[in-house]
Amino acid sequence: MLALGAGVVIAGVPVAALVLLAAVGWAPVGAALLAIGATLLAALVLALRWSRDVDLLADGVRRIAADEPIGPHSPALPGMWRLSTELERLARRTTARSALIEQLRRADGTVVERLPDPLIVLAEDRSVRRANSAARAAFGADMPAVLRHPELRAAIDRAFVSEMPQTAEVTLHVPVPREVHAAVVPMDPPIADGGRAVVVLSDRSRERAVERMRADFVANVSHELRTPLASLIGFIDTLRGPAADDPPAQQRFLGIMGEQAARMNRLIDDLLSLSRIELIEHQAPSGTVDLYGLATRLAASFEPRLRERSVTLDLCLPDELPEVIGDADQLTQVLQNLLDNAVKYGRAGGTVRLDAAVTAPGRPGVVLTVADQGAGIPREHLPRLTERFYRVDTGRSRAVGGTGLGLAIVKHIVNRHRGNLSIESEEGIGTTVSVWLPQAVAQPVAPGLPV
Ligand code: ADP
Repeated sequence: MLALGAGVVIAGVPVAALVLLAAVGWAPVGAALLAIGATLLAALVLALRWSRDVDLLADGVRRIAADEPIGPHSPALPGMWRLSTELERLARRTTARSALIEQLRRADGTVVERLPDPLIVLAEDRSVRRANSAARAAFGADMPAVLRHPELRAAIDRAFVSEMPQTAEVTLHVPVPREVHAAVVPMDPPIADGGRAVVVLSDRSRERAVERMRADFVANVSHELRTPLASLIGFIDTLRGPAADDPPAQQRFLGIMGEQAARMNRLIDDLLSLSRIELIEHQAPSGTVDLYGLATRLAASFEPRLRERSVTLDLCLPDELPEVIGDADQLTQVLQNLLDNAVKYGRAGGTVRLDAAVTAPGRPGVVLTVADQGAGIPREHLPRLTERFYRVDTGRSRAVGGTGLGLAIVKHIVNRHRGNLSIESEEGIGTTVSVWLPQAVAQPVAPGLPV
């Protein structure tokens, strides 16, 4: 139809001119009719080709708009060739740009998906549009409940209203209790998937716990030091005043003052040991230690302590103990603290047993076990014994000279040695503490070197 109309338009003027020439007699009628027929035919052929080319180019433009590949086209009319060439260039450029946009979109998606902190994208109606893998792992099906938390909800509302980033410190109770720092960032313009705000929830439970532990630690240390210090100040006043002329009382008080000063000294020694160990806890020791020699030497030095409490030390060490990876001073401290506890809290007149055994080839190492026959430790206290200043019976610990730091020191040393500590106890039967240490691997001898 279009072609017919175009043909009529093209042929209109020459045909009208021919009709006029024939009418006024300037051209013979037969020849004019022939010329009119030829003109109409040529115009129709031209119009058909033109119409086909226009259709072809229109289809190309439609495909470019729809991001579809355009096929090869060869317009019939020379005037259309340039247009076609430009169209093909435009198609190539659009395809390259679309590929780049897709690549950037995918890269953005990957960054969001792999962020270690949970990230949630909210739609305009504040529903969850998208959540990254950390958010799915942390909150799963509880995500809507998390977003309904009053403080988080308020931060989201503020962000939507003010169009400014907002933060909130939130204590979540589902799916597990945790402390979270929430940052809500409104998105203007919205992100590609229609997200209007991004919520990042960083878990701060660990930092908060460390802060609390630090504050508790300072409070505990002050408390532990204040008690003997107050007692020393009190005795100094008494020695200056009421007991100034009472030599027997002075001797008694000086004895107590000596004990209090020794207690402060022990506490400071333990605190220093603990901080030294913590400083290097991440560096595994590189030396090797002969546990047989270490244990026998330590057992000998324990004689006076054993005699004080009439305790018998039962040493059960196999002659062939492999060397372990370790720091001899620190391992001596481990055994010393464990034996000291066994003697302190074990039964007076009872037996303390120190065992060593080689563990299975799948887990090559040596396990040291210290067992006493004391009153034991109620089960509920066992998980907390290695916390600093944690004592089952504070009065008893202080009375026997405990600082509450012995097992904390043991735990940190064992951690540094990449070993394992376990405490088992049965009330009325006794307590058994085991320390496993990895065996030192014999270094292969380089060929050619003397053995
Ligand atoms: P302390 O200096 O008080 O002995 P530790 O850290 O060595 O501190 O031990 C922590 C607490 O664990 C002790 O106060 C004590 O209550 C308990 N405990 C440790 N070892 C034993 C044991 N062998 N038998 C009974 N209780 C023990």
